[in-house]
Amino acid sequence: MNLKRFLVCLLLLSSFALAQHPAQHKKTAKAAPVTRPKADPATAIHQSALIIDTHADTPQRFLDENFDLGQNTPVSEGHIDLEKIKQGNLGAEFFSIWVEPEFKGHYAQRAMDLIDSVYQQAARHPDKMTMAFTADDIVRAHDQHKFAALMGIEGGHAIENDMRLLRDFYRVGVRYMTLTWSNTNEWADSSGDIQDPNVKHHNGMTDFGKDVVREMNHLGMIVDISHVSDATFYQALLVSQAPVIASHSSSRELTNQPRNMTDDMLRAMTNNGGVVMVNFYSAFIDENYRKASSDPEKIKQRDAEVEAYKKAHPHPDGSPVTYEETAAIEKKWASQFPRPPLKSLIDHIDHIAKVAGIDHVGLGSDFDGVTSLPDGIDSVADLPKITQALYQRGYTREQILNILGGNFMRVMHEVEATAKRLQSESKESDTLSFESLELMVGNHVSAAQLIDRIRQHGVNFDLTQERRTRLKNEKVDDSVLDALVKAKRQ
Ligand SMILES: [Zn+2]
Repeated sequence: MNLKRFLVCLLLLSSFALAQHPAQHKKTAKAAPVTRPKADPATAIHQSALIIDTHADTPQRFLDENFDLGQNTPVSEGHIDLEKIKQGNLGAEFFSIWVEPEFKGHYAQRAMDLIDSVYQQAARHPDKMTMAFTADDIVRAHDQHKFAALMGIEGGHAIENDMRLLRDFYRVGVRYMTLTWSNTNEWADSSGDIQDPNVKHHNGMTDFGKDVVREMNHLGMIVDISHVSDATFYQALLVSQAPVIASHSSSRELTNQPRNMTDDMLRAMTNNGGVVMVNFYSAFIDENYRKASSDPEKIKQRDAEVEAYKKAHPHPDGSPVTYEETAAIEKKWASQFPRPPLKSLIDHIDHIAKVAGIDHVGLGSDFDGVTSLPDGIDSVADLPKITQALYQRGYTREQILNILGGNFMRVMHEVEATAKRLQSESKESDTLSFESLELMVGNHVSAAQLIDRIRQHGVNFDLTQERRTRLKNEKVDDSVLDALVKAKRQ
């Protein structure tokens, strides 16, 4: 080989190597700039959407299995992790703070432990995810290309019949609460045991239950009616001043499950302005699957197996064996029934969009909380298939964007606005009247305390000469009269 040929050869080899390099690089890291084939319309819609899912039970995995969202585990083990979230383009998830009734006596503690587990995940992955507490937070996270984590309590029993605990849960970031889980609690009936004569029911909600709804409105915590009995549902809608959600419920007309919503309930949701987030669970979206899996004999076998496991694997500290530990048994049991087609899930979205209206439907997967999902939906990574199916059914870009997240964002904004209004109204009613001031004076409240109260809440009366004289006769200190003059001036 002469020198010239050798050089040409070298040149060819090196250009070949250069050409090869980007291709190899592309395989290992997707971030390399490559010319993509033009995306089809459904993919483009999906990628441009702010997608919100309102129910996933992953916190139990965080807490009971030490699962880290950064681990990309097989779909047989879990439906959600950061890699799958990226593939599915999920923008925000409401992680469920589900308190198993077995934790009786420790409901609030169990809830707090689950809440902590969500914060721990956000702290571990600050570059990829962030905690979010408002609709604006969700948008901000999305703009920063971060996944937004929110929290909703599943099961009103978690507040242990204590309004102060409800407020505490709001303070630590909880933004919705299902009034019940499958168990009726001491103030609201559940659909899960409504036929059980051994359970004490309330004909819907007790007065305290209605106060819980009012307090949630006041705080800005979304009232979630998934799981509740029909009576509880209608009463909650009567009491609530803000739109409500069903964080993970489907249509009863299509799949006859008491936990699903009748068409009449769907229409009530339209009037309320709320949104029904469709549950993906096979037994809630497909009548064949529901019938097959509700065979009492088969359920008995499964429950016996779960009980046997719990007996054989007790915790040394006496704490309950959790759902996570027995989930494998339940998943194996569920796999005997063929998975329904994706069409069944899309039919539910379609039906709710038709009956409640296109502005009142969204996604509430129930990922990591269910043992069977429709064919093709193995995890959150498969969300694009839902967009694809909706597009094929003729939904427009705008309608799809609303289903994927827009409708829920509207409700969250409205719940926040209602809370603001209610808070400013109650501030108004807190302002001190002359009658209540006289009452406090009569009860020998100190001048310092009176001044504090006047400064904090203001007064709704003028200090006329007559009122001044009356207070003077009661030996009210001049400093209080000064505070009254100043308070009215403000
Ligand atoms: Zn649930």
